[in-house]
Amino acid sequence: MIIRARAVVTMDGLPIENGAVAISGNRIIDVGKFPEISARHSGQQLVDLGEQVMLPGLINAHCHLDYTCLRGQIPPKKPFADWIRAINTEKARLSAQDYVASIAEGFAEAKRFGTTTIANLTAFPELIARIDPPIRTWWFAELIDVRSPERANELVDLAAESLKPAANWGLAPHAPFTASKDLYRRCEEVVRRENVLLTTHLAESREEMSLFRDGAGPLYDFMRSIGRPMDDCGHETPLRLFSDTIGAPPSTSLRTGSGRALPTEWIIAHLNELAESDFELLERFTGKFHVVHSPRSHDYFAHSTFAFRRLRDLGFNICLGTDSLASNENLSLFAEMRAFRRGEPAVSPKEALEMATVNGGRALGRPQVLGRIRANYFADLIAIPCSGITDVFEEILAFDQPVHWIMVNGKT
Ligand SMILES: [Zn+2]
Repeated sequence: MIIRARAVVTMDGLPIENGAVAISGNRIIDVGKFPEISARHSGQQLVDLGEQVMLPGLINAHCHLDYTCLRGQIPPKKPFADWIRAINTEKARLSAQDYVASIAEGFAEAKRFGTTTIANLTAFPELIARIDPPIRTWWFAELIDVRSPERANELVDLAAESLKPAANWGLAPHAPFTASKDLYRRCEEVVRRENVLLTTHLAESREEMSLFRDGAGPLYDFMRSIGRPMDDCGHETPLRLFSDTIGAPPSTSLRTGSGRALPTEWIIAHLNELAESDFELLERFTGKFHVVHSPRSHDYFAHSTFAFRRLRDLGFNICLGTDSLASNENLSLFAEMRAFRRGEPAVSPKEALEMATVNGGRALGRPQVLGRIRANYFADLIAIPCSGITDVFEEILAFDQPVHWIMVNGKT
């Protein structure tokens, strides 16, 4: 099959005017100018998308579709601990069937906004057998053992068994204040054995910083009140604690100049709250992990400014995510790119689009098949109206409608 469009944005080099993509099965086999593609693949079925730009499907690198049904239910709350209490109250009202419906609704919405790959954290890995995702999905089991640390290994092993039938999966110890070191370590063991992915929330809020660094604040009080052992608080920043005591053992990690180690496969959500000493630590890391920024959820919580340029310039791979609809209004990565550029107007629209395509593919460990239009890549494509190629990246970022043409894995 050949698909032609007024413009093709491959994420390699310049946009192609009057471009076309040749597809075989679920893969792209060729891309270039329409006359050349039609000559090289004569006799193939032609789909002409007309005055549209075709681009790689978008990649959401951090999301919780469990909470799609909580859209608009929880107003922003300070302190952050009160927001956690509020979402816990809402969650207590939901049944397994509610969650299945919420996740299905989230998938449909994400796809409608042109997302073809999603990293989705679920607190209910046992439910995924009841769901057939319409887009390419990495399922991450979100794991919390703060109320039952003695069950850390069991929780991880049960989650892994539920996720194994999925094509793509990983483990997500929730955060250093809700998941024990034992739980993190077990996740790392299983991930190494199964060759899957790891993600976690880190340094999200000011309160997490004061909990770990100062041993004080509303989140500290809340976690102590539910019985969490607090002996790791009052010493180090969240990042320092994570890199000193939670990162993978030396056998699988890259050593830093100071002897510290962090595995490079981690996908770290947030990293909003960093001290100067954290930047010194990050500079010394030779292995750079992936960072997911969720601009609208960040604004909702009014976290400290995300240090995009410092992290990018240190070599970290920065992707975009929507986080959940408990702290965001919809699952549009177009809106996420726009929100990101409101805070970082000097970043080009092309670089913002890279964060929602190429960088997501890297974070998910599939840089050779995800996030570009190139031979051998998955045929995960979208098309939206455009007026030409002159301002095509600006037009892409300004797009705020449902996406009407979507191909996932070679199928529309
Ligand atoms: Zn999250």
